[in-house]
Amino acid sequence: MNYTLTEDQTAFQDVARQFSDKALAPHAAEWDDSKIFPKAVIAEAGELGFCGLYCPEAVGGLGLSRLDASIILEQLAMGCTSTTAFISIHNMATAMIATFGHPELIERLCPDLIAGKKLASYCLTEPGAGSDAASLRTQAVLDGDHYVVNGTKMFISGAGATDTLVAMVRTGESGPKGITCLAIPADADGIEYGSNLNKMGWNSQPTREIVFNDVRVPVTERVGEEGEGFKIAMKGLDGGRINIGTCSVGTAQAALNRSKVYLQERQQFGEPLANFQALQFKLADMATELVAARQMIRLAAFKVDSGDPEATVYTAMAKRFSTDVGFRVCNDALQLHGGYGYMREYPLERYIRDNRVHQILEGTNEIMRVIIARRLLTLADLENIT
Ligand SMILES: Cc1cc2nc3c(=O)[nH]c(=O)nc-3n(C[C@H](O)[C@H](O)[C@H](O)COP(=O)(O)OP(=O)(O)OC[C@H]3O[C@@H](n4cnc5c(N)ncnc54)[C@H](O)[C@@H]3O)c2cc1C
Repeated sequence: MNYTLTEDQTAFQDVARQFSDKALAPHAAEWDDSKIFPKAVIAEAGELGFCGLYCPEAVGGLGLSRLDASIILEQLAMGCTSTTAFISIHNMATAMIATFGHPELIERLCPDLIAGKKLASYCLTEPGAGSDAASLRTQAVLDGDHYVVNGTKMFISGAGATDTLVAMVRTGESGPKGITCLAIPADADGIEYGSNLNKMGWNSQPTREIVFNDVRVPVTERVGEEGEGFKIAMKGLDGGRINIGTCSVGTAQAALNRSKVYLQERQQFGEPLANFQALQFKLADMATELVAARQMIRLAAFKVDSGDPEATVYTAMAKRFSTDVGFRVCNDALQLHGGYGYMREYPLERYIRDNRVHQILEGTNEIMRVIIARRLLTLADLENIT
């Protein structure tokens, strides 16, 4: 077992750090304040390959492992959590097309998506189907060589500013087996977008409701076979959960870095805060938990990369743990900054607002526990999960 990053991983990490420092971090506060979706910067990330991290090289992707991708996304999240989280969703949706789409669809859609010239949204959630995603009701009825789509998707990241909607729709029976995945052109007739929802964080990316009114989608836009949509959506989320956990870890690392500097600079009672053991212990606990969270993410990524049959359990564990730790570390960092941490002049409060949603989306942390417990209770030997 070797925990040292390879030369290639270190090189990717360096490129991502430079991009994050130069193109993301200096603008993150303004994007948050003014709700700016930085599409041009995402396209720049695409030029570096960051919009097709684990798409195959044959279609223009970097063809990286989930572990490599996580190393890159962590660096990006240190600069802007919200923008990186969108890049991660775009990567997930694009990889679903690249992995499960038919060759013509891949050839037509993937090059621009991978280059970041076009963007994709992942559309699973509906007003009445959140945690119970398999109960989704958006209907797609076959009419000749088109599906006619009717229904509503809720809380869709990037909606209104993206080009392709990777949408899970119902083409058959109730439950997961009646769900199909379509790559719907975002400007198709009959699509209506709601207003950009007012959120606590993630302000550098829009979140909207999408209503489909008799939207005609050619069958050529189907990703995978009819009835495979839920499986494809869940495969996407295995990787997505690693990515979101990674965004939490990167953000928390940025908060920890700032806390160390602040403790050494800020003086109270005639000495630096860093001299107080209570605060030293806080810093030690933050760093310890963060290392554990990062290693869980990397373990889960390794399990996905190696096709481990228990990969879903590991990604659920890693997502739950890393997003909880990520939030806690940011909150502790704000506390260490005292009143200044509460001010918008410092990024601590933004880190908290941005990281908070990671405990909710891509499956809430309660649903992660459902996934883990369900599997544990069916396993004959719990030592298969180590
Ligand atoms: C900013 C933002 C962006 C998002 N982006 C996207 C996107 O791009 N694409 C997309 O498809 N979705 C997206 N979502 C939706 C997100 O995935 C859902 O909000 C999430 O899955 C939870 O669904 P819900 O909000 O309907 O909550 P509910 O499912 O109604 O859950 C409410 C509460 O009940 C708990 N709960 C529910 N069932 C159980 C159970 N069986 N046991 C224990 N507890 C349970 C939940 O954990 C939660 O605490 C986004 C959400 C947000 C907030």
